[in-house]
This record gives sequence, C-alpha cells and structure tokens, in this order.
Amino acid sequence: MNDAKPIWIRDPLAILADGAERGIVVKGGQIIELVPAGAAPATADVAVFDAGDHVVLPGLINTHHHFYQTLTRALPAAMDRELFPWLQALYPVWAKLTPDALDLGVTVAMSELLLSGCTTTTDHHYVFPAGLEDAVDIEVAVARRLGVRVLLTRGSMNLSQRDGGLPPDSVVQDEDTILADSARVVGKHHQRGADAMVQIALAPCSPFSVSTSLMRATADLADKLDVRLHTHLAETEDENRFCQEMFGCRPLDYLEQCGWLNARTWLAHGIFFNADEMKRLGKAKTTISHCACSNQLLASGCCPVCEMEEAGVGIGIGVDGSASNDGSNLMQEVRAAFLLQRARYGVTKVSHKDALRWATKGSAACVGRPELGEIAVGKAADLALFRLDELRFSGHGDPLAALVLCGAHRADRVMVAGKWAVIDGAIPGLDVADVIQRHSSAARAMQAG
Ligand SMILES: [Zn+2]
Repeated sequence: MNDAKPIWIRDPLAILADGAERGIVVKGGQIIELVPAGAAPATADVAVFDAGDHVVLPGLINTHHHFYQTLTRALPAAMDRELFPWLQALYPVWAKLTPDALDLGVTVAMSELLLSGCTTTTDHHYVFPAGLEDAVDIEVAVARRLGVRVLLTRGSMNLSQRDGGLPPDSVVQDEDTILADSARVVGKHHQRGADAMVQIALAPCSPFSVSTSLMRATADLADKLDVRLHTHLAETEDENRFCQEMFGCRPLDYLEQCGWLNARTWLAHGIFFNADEMKRLGKAKTTISHCACSNQLLASGCCPVCEMEEAGVGIGIGVDGSASNDGSNLMQEVRAAFLLQRARYGVTKVSHKDALRWATKGSAACVGRPELGEIAVGKAADLALFRLDELRFSGHGDPLAALVLCGAHRADRVMVAGKWAVIDGAIPGLDVADVIQRHSSAARAMQAG
C-alpha cells in the first residue's frame, strides 16, 4: 500500500473537518493533507476520487457488540423481557453456538457495520461452550477477510447458576482456563502501533457473571500485557441490587476494589451512576460506551451523557449485541443516540454534531486509539462516504445534518487504512445472498428445540 499513489478525495459535498473544503489526500493508510477552499493539493502525482456526490465522515467506531447474537435476533422467547430474564431466556440458545455458526454470525455483524460506515469495531465475546475455545481466533480471521479494523475482547464468565450467577454451566469456564487463553490470544493477535488492524482487550462479562478473583486477576493481566479492559456496568437497577446483596456496595465501588477504575477501562452502558461516581470516572479517565438502541429496547434506562461529559467522562457509541438492538447499523445508532439524548436534554444541549462526535472521536478514546475518529493530518485514512440521492434526503439543506436527521443507514464507500472496504454500497467479494442463506440456516438450527 505504501507504494500506491496518494489519493485525493476531491471536492466533497460536505466533510466533517475544518479546512478541507476541497478534500483530503490519503497515502499509506494515513491522511497526509487537508486541501482548503480555493487550493489544490501540495502532494504531487495524486490519483483522484471525485467526492462531489459524497458527504465524508471519519470512519465510525463501534465500541460495544456481541457479534454472535446476530443468530438470535427478534427471538420470541426473549422478546419483551428486561435484561436479567432476557439473558436467562437466551443463554441456553447461545450454549448451542458452534465455530461455523460463530463465523457466520461475525461475518453478518461485521458486514452490517461496514456497510453502515463503521471502520473500527469492538466485539465482546463471552460465551465459550465446549468446542468453541477458538472463538476469538475465528473473529480475527473474519475481520482480516473483510478488512475491518477491530478491537476484539476476550470475554469470560466463571459464575454459573451453580454459584448464584445467571448463565448455565455449559457456557462458563474456570479462571485458569480463561486467564491462560487471554494471554494466548493477546500474544497471538494483538498488534501495537498506530497502524494496528487487530487488537485484543480483556473483558469479563459483568460483575454478576464472574468471580471477584477473576475480576482482579484480569485487571492484573491487562496491566502486565498492556491491553485494554472492558465490561458491562451500571446497565440496570437489578445490577445495583445484585451488587449490594453480593458485595455490599454499588457496582462502581466494586469495580474500583477490583482494580478497574483507570484509563485502561471502557464500560458498556453506564446508566445508573450518581454524580459522585461520574466525577470518579472522569478523574480516572474511564470511558463509557453509550448503547441507545439496546437501552431503549430492554427498557434499561438512559445514559446521562451530558452530565458525564461535564464530569470529564468520554462518551463513545455502541450498537450492543444484535439480540438487543436488533441490528448492527452504526449510522442508525448515531441517530438513535441523538434522538434519545435530545429528548432527555433538550434542543440546545444535544446536536447532530454531538452524536457524530461520540461515534468518532469519543469512540476512538474508548478503544484507546487517538489516531482514529478524526479527519486531520497524521490520522488514519479510515473514512465513511455517504451519498444523499435517496428519497429520504431529497430536499435537504445542510448535508451533514441530513445524515443524522433524515436517517442515513448505508454508506456508499468505506475506506479502512487507505483501502476501499466498501465500494458502491457493497463489500467486494462478499456474496450477501449466500451469507444470509447460511446464517439463517445456522440461526434456525440454534433456535430449534
Ligand atoms: Zn452488551
């Protein structure tokens, strides 16, 4: 790629960057020049991509997901339930996950994300039934195939129903197995540096599904291996009650006792923190993945993003698992976050630009990648380009606002590390009809009986 000609993405209809009215020049996976109004690139010998019909955004970054859940969307047995009973209905189905089904589930989730303008995604995989020990390796292979940048988390659960937890015995592992495999996947897959395409983080599922010993040992291991930490926290009132009964304190106190309250950690949801807890999170530089669709679908509540930001807590956006959304469309998630937060805070405190900022720069902070999420010289050439020629955009004024307000849902072009991963609204080489057929069949097999 370094030998390829620089590309001038010329004269965009609109672009989420200042001083780039005539576009940007990318080379070797990086943005090397912004071209202001009335100027031409200083870079010589550029190939030109005419962006006259495109709104150009930094590639969107998804900070929370469970890819395998694409296999259990809109499942009647789990519908219309809150988090704990929802989990209890789904665990026995997820226990039937196989390597082939996971490969398909990941392919579907990552493809949906890419086509919605996402260039970097996390995944939180925490179910490990017998035979699925290589789950993270399977995910890495799919990410490489599709050309999406990933931060995959090695999830874990070691408290089953036998120990007072929610999951059945068949999907949990013991602490030694979890820690050994965590070290293995980091050693095998984790890349360092600004051009990393695959990174690994460690991610016990939640305080109610892992032991205190595993929470602490995971934080120690993440420190030793210098990787990030992730878990669900403060998602429901049930969780507050569970922590109070089990540990005699609130979820954030417990997290702190386990050595997790630091800049290495980003947390999914963060709905039920009080003002003091938000201050502590801000001081510790722990960040939050806001999952607006999931929080609405499971009626969990609403993350107080404005109070969080005022307390110095960074906010990113996550679609969450496809069984609690039930889609993986990150651009739609931006709109959902915008609408939910505007309803909470009013028209003057939340704009479409805030929602886009959460899904780009904010999400980049969650995944610990300051070189992502922004169109500026030296940042990664990760871009999402949208056309506005659908009926839904007809008659628009401001093109950037139209993306959020008119409900953009499909990118026309997506560039990851300087390479086109989506062209003309499609992923080159991906037979979508074939994937849907095989994925549906795997889903039916899991859901049967
Ligand atoms: Zn989740």
